[in-house]
Amino acid sequence: MKGSRYNILVKNRDRNTICYNTLLDSFCILSNPDAELLKTDVEKLAEKSPKMYEALCEAGYIVEDDCDELALAAQEYDEAINDPSTFYLTLLPSLDCNLRCWYCFEKHVVGSHLTPAVSDSIFAFVKEKLADENIKQLQVELFGGEPLLYFETELYPLLKKIKDAAVEAEKYVSFFFVTNAVCINEGNIPLFEELNASFQISIDGSKERHDKVKYIPESGEGTFDSMLKTVKALTERLDSVYINLRINYDDETLPKMPELIEQLGDIDRNKIGVHLERVWQTGGSPFDNEELQAIIHQWMANGFKVSYMNMGRRSFSCKASAKNQAVISWNGAVYKCSGRDFTDSHQEGQLMQDGTIKWDDEKLKKRLDIVTWDNPMCRECKFLPLCWGPCCQKQLETPGDFERYCQKRNMEMGIAEFVKYKFNNAYINPANYIERI
Ligand code: SF4
Ligand code: SF4
Repeated sequence: MKGSRYNILVKNRDRNTICYNTLLDSFCILSNPDAELLKTDVEKLAEKSPKMYEALCEAGYIVEDDCDELALAAQEYDEAINDPSTFYLTLLPSLDCNLRCWYCFEKHVVGSHLTPAVSDSIFAFVKEKLADENIKQLQVELFGGEPLLYFETELYPLLKKIKDAAVEAEKYVSFFFVTNAVCINEGNIPLFEELNASFQISIDGSKERHDKVKYIPESGEGTFDSMLKTVKALTERLDSVYINLRINYDDETLPKMPELIEQLGDIDRNKIGVHLERVWQTGGSPFDNEELQAIIHQWMANGFKVSYMNMGRRSFSCKASAKNQAVISWNGAVYKCSGRDFTDSHQEGQLMQDGTIKWDDEKLKKRLDIVTWDNPMCRECKFLPLCWGPCCQKQLETPGDFERYCQKRNMEMGIAEFVKYKFNNAYINPANYIERI
C-alpha cells in the first residue's frame, strides 16, 4: 500500500496535521507522528496505529501499490468532457450593457438584442437537445453584455418556453444569470422565481468603490444601494435561490471589505456564496498577500462560504472543453469560449434558422483535441483534480506556455494557507475555527 499522490499534509501548529486529498476533496486530521508515517512509511503506520491505517485505506488516503490515480483522474476528465447526459448552453441575449466598468474586456454592440427569428432558432436548437434521449439536463447560463436589458419583453418569454418544453420532456433545466442586477426589480422578481433562477452578481468592494466603477453613464448615479437591495430582496423572496457574489478586488478595495460584510448583515448565508476575484489588470501582488488572507477568513468567520481562484473540485478545466456545449449570441453567432470578446475572429459556428449549428470543424477540432491537464507540469501537480490545467482557450493562444497560466503561480497565498482556508470553508462554523498560521 502507499499514500495517495493527492494527499497534501499541512501542520496545524504543533497540535496535529490536516490532510487534504484533492482527488477525494476531503479532509482528515492526524496526529503529527501518524502524518509523518503516512508520508514516509505506511506499513509502519499500519503497525503503530492500525485503526487509523484501516480508516485511511477505506477512505482512499492510502491506496494499493498498483493503483494509478493519475489514470483514474484522466478517465474522470475524459468522461466529463464527453458526458452525453448534460448540455451546457450559454446565451448572450445582448452584447450591449447599461454600465461601462473600466476593466470589462468586451466590445459592446450598442442596441443589440434578440430578434424573434433568432429567438425561434434558439428554441428549435433547445427542442432538438431535449428530444435527444441521452441528454438528461440542460444548464443554461445567461451572459452578455448585460443579459437582462430586454428581460421582460424578449428573454423571459424564450426562457419560459424552454422551461415548459423541458418539463414536458421530463428533463432538468437550470438558469444561471451573470448580471450586474440593475434590471432586477420588485416587479420582475416573480419571473425569476418561475424560472428557479440562480445568479452571479458582481460587487466592486465597498459602496464608495463600487459606485465609482458601476454607475449609470447617463446620470452618474452609483448602483451599490440598489444592487444590495436587490440581493437582499432575492434572498428573502425566492425560496431556493443561490447567488454567487463575485467580488472584484484590488489592493485598494481589500481594506474596505469589512464594511461590505457588515452591510450584508443577517442575509441568509445558505443562499449566498462569495467569490473573490482579483481585477486581472491589477495583478502582480505578493504571493503571500496577508491582507487578502485576513479578508477571506473574515468572510468565513461571518458564516459565508468563500471561493477563491478557480480551485473547486470539478472534472474539467472549463466547460468550453466539453463536447456538449455552445455559446449562442444575440445574432446567432456561436462560440465555445465566453472569456474572450465575441468578435468574428473568435466565432466557431453559426446557428442556422432550423436550430442546427454549423460549426467550423477545423477550429472546433483544434480546441477539443486539447487535453488541458496533459503536460509535464500538470501531470505531477497535486492540484490537478481542482484545476485540470490552463483552459483550452489559453492553450490555443499560447501553445506550450503552461507555466504562465498555472493557478498555483497566481495564487496570493501559500499551499498551507490555502489548505487551511479550504478546511475552514468546508466546515464553516465560527466556533470551531482553525486559526490562521
Ligand atoms: S477563457 Fe478559458 S476559462 Fe474562460 S471561458 Fe474561455 S476557455 Fe473557459
Ligand atoms: S495549471 Fe498549475 S495548478 Fe493547475 S493543474 Fe497545472 S500545475 Fe497544477
